[in-house]
Amino acid sequence: MPGDLIPSSQSNNKFSNTSVVFRCSGCGIYNLSSMGRITNNLNQVKFGPTQGPPVNSTCHFCRSKIHMAGPMYSGPLHNKEFVSAMLKFVQDNKTKFQTSKRMEGMLTVIFEEIDAPLFYLPNDLSSTVRSPTPDYQTLASAFLNLGFKVSFSHCAAGSLKTDAPPEVIWDVMRCWAKKNPVKLEKFPKGAPGLLILGVEPSREVDFTYNPQSNTPSRCIKLVRYQLNPEKNWGPKPRHRRQVEECRSEKKQKKELS
Ligand SMILES: [Zn+2]
Repeated sequence: MPGDLIPSSQSNNKFSNTSVVFRCSGCGIYNLSSMGRITNNLNQVKFGPTQGPPVNSTCHFCRSKIHMAGPMYSGPLHNKEFVSAMLKFVQDNKTKFQTSKRMEGMLTVIFEEIDAPLFYLPNDLSSTVRSPTPDYQTLASAFLNLGFKVSFSHCAAGSLKTDAPPEVIWDVMRCWAKKNPVKLEKFPKGAPGLLILGVEPSREVDFTYNPQSNTPSRCIKLVRYQLNPEKNWGPKPRHRRQVEECRSEKKQKKELS
């Protein structure tokens, strides 16, 4: 019916797969809040508004301000069946593509990717608590040993996706900082990392190697992300001499006029 204000189930579904992001300006941790909520009661699917927001205006961990961004798509990212068929096609037709190795690598990463909408960079987490950066396998093993999922993101090399909530992420980094002691006296007063490390972890974290952290894309050492195709590839800086010549030419013209 034209002008009907009640959205169809399809648009309700889209609404539930759209979220706003609440990201801490200090420690970088984020929470998502979907625009709609789906409940399944006695095989009857119901759509409703989300209750929220999921965070206060300041961060629970480091007391910094929370910024809101979005809306963004937060539903399932990849059709695994389609990705699997693409992967098989590339493997069966390697000679057809110049970049077949990277295509195979990227498709394998996408196939392994978990359905978490955003990712973290381990380097960012460790720089907040000023500890050495754990390698991917160590960090992934910690989350896997706690019962959470992990994967890379196809968007960035060295990224880590997990379904672990923010409190677990900081507990992992607190335990990592205990294993690799950091100098608390070097933190400025009120620094996000100091406030995070000032709280004892509420769970024990086991960093022992978990075989699931060694995914097929790592095992077969695939080229996964975009690399420069050859040496010195890409935009180069402007030639200095040429710029200087151009400048002096302009100067001469000005003087003559
Ligand atoms: Zn924070």
